[in-house]
Amino acid sequence: MTGIIARTLVLCLCLGLGLAAPRGGAAGAAGTTTAAPQGGAAGAGGTTTAAPQGGIFPFAVKVETLENGLKVVSLPLSNPNIISYYTIVRSGSRNEIEPGKSGFAHFFEHMMSKGTKQVPRAAYGDFLARLGAGTNSATTDDFTCYSVVFAGRDSLENVVRTEADRFINLAPSEDMLRTEAAVIESEYYAGASDPARRLIETLRDTAFERHPYKHTTLGSLKDIQELPNQYEYSLLYKKRFFAPDNTILLVAGDFDPAQLAAFVRKYYGAWKISNYDLQTPVEPPQEKARRARIAGPAGAPARIAVGFHGPAFSDTAADKAALDLLAELSFASASPLYQKLVNKDRTCRSLTADFPDTRDPSLFVISAVVNNEGDLPTVEAEILKELERVKAEPAPAARLADVKSRRKYALARALETTDGAAATLAFYLNLTGDPGTVNRIFNLRDRVSPRDIQDAARKYFKPSNSATVTLTGEAAKGETP
Ligand SMILES: [Zn+2]
Repeated sequence: MTGIIARTLVLCLCLGLGLAAPRGGAAGAAGTTTAAPQGGAAGAGGTTTAAPQGGIFPFAVKVETLENGLKVVSLPLSNPNIISYYTIVRSGSRNEIEPGKSGFAHFFEHMMSKGTKQVPRAAYGDFLARLGAGTNSATTDDFTCYSVVFAGRDSLENVVRTEADRFINLAPSEDMLRTEAAVIESEYYAGASDPARRLIETLRDTAFERHPYKHTTLGSLKDIQELPNQYEYSLLYKKRFFAPDNTILLVAGDFDPAQLAAFVRKYYGAWKISNYDLQTPVEPPQEKARRARIAGPAGAPARIAVGFHGPAFSDTAADKAALDLLAELSFASASPLYQKLVNKDRTCRSLTADFPDTRDPSLFVISAVVNNEGDLPTVEAEILKELERVKAEPAPAARLADVKSRRKYALARALETTDGAAATLAFYLNLTGDPGTVNRIFNLRDRVSPRDIQDAARKYFKPSNSATVTLTGEAAKGETP
């Protein structure tokens, strides 16, 4: 869902990384890779090939897991000379399980560009410049992704060596931590008054009690301010998560897979396994509706967000896929409610539903920006009425087919370029570690019936499972903007 970007993604070296879950569906059989399960070093040394299965993701993918648990996914493509090199570290808000320790995943996204003894920061920059490479990094709720896109298969060994070095040999000093903590605090303040960010931060804090999705990727200001005093903890965080058994390497494009495998074994083989077993706190079932109201910057239009606890990403159970389709059917720009509230009555400036694909259960969020604060109750009532309608009436088959086909088309478009294919696969690898997920999820969405959508709506859209936050532009009401 593109909404994941707005909600949870912190982009620091923005060059257009397409890490949103592609919308799409797929025909054909599911992939049959037997790649090692997510996390841990299971399947060490094993190699398998996921052959194309006639699904929407048609490429052959090779998966190898090194002895140290590093999973290497190679995706040879025919676009001449272009290579996308992705390092997917499963480090995000989800990993920040201790109270007072939010923001570390994002902090390490910054630290990974600090350079090492062997390749100092300036030398790394020179190397990339000579290569003419585009680089990017982004942190989400579940993972941090680093990419280097370059032309020239002859440079592959140098890229493997240099990328391996920056992950294996980063040795953060206390000075580096303090310098970067200040940068991160500035980054926090730069967006602190953004009403959309404040709304979602408050919604997550209201809806979650125990799970680290309670906080956004940026972390809380209090924790960011405490960062300069967290040197020891930062070393622990790095040891736990910046390790081969928590990392997936994805290389897509014009290269020889056998050569890549040899380079990877040569340069990543010495990376020490972590064996850390992350136990993410389980969110207890919510028992009654929650509500919060915050004041936004003066003059900002009023907003509402209504969130429901929903299921985690799954490429086998229909609930999540059904709710994804529901989000589009009921709240996207072609939906009758959007047409009414945004286009016809002009009550709302925008209306969206966002349900990110995440490894643990997260929130299905419907949000709206209204033109007049006094319309907030009406808009809330309209949203809830739409959800009741979905429970009662099956989705029209033709509209459902349209939504599915639009998603397929969008995905097919994304797969036309090397980096589009890499970004798509990287996103799904983050979720399950298994390249077969791409075809499985699109096959699953294709099978979702109007009845599945009704069942999912009845299961999740209950008042007791909801959290509602409003933001009004009037700081005069005694609340701090
Ligand atoms: Zn940043």
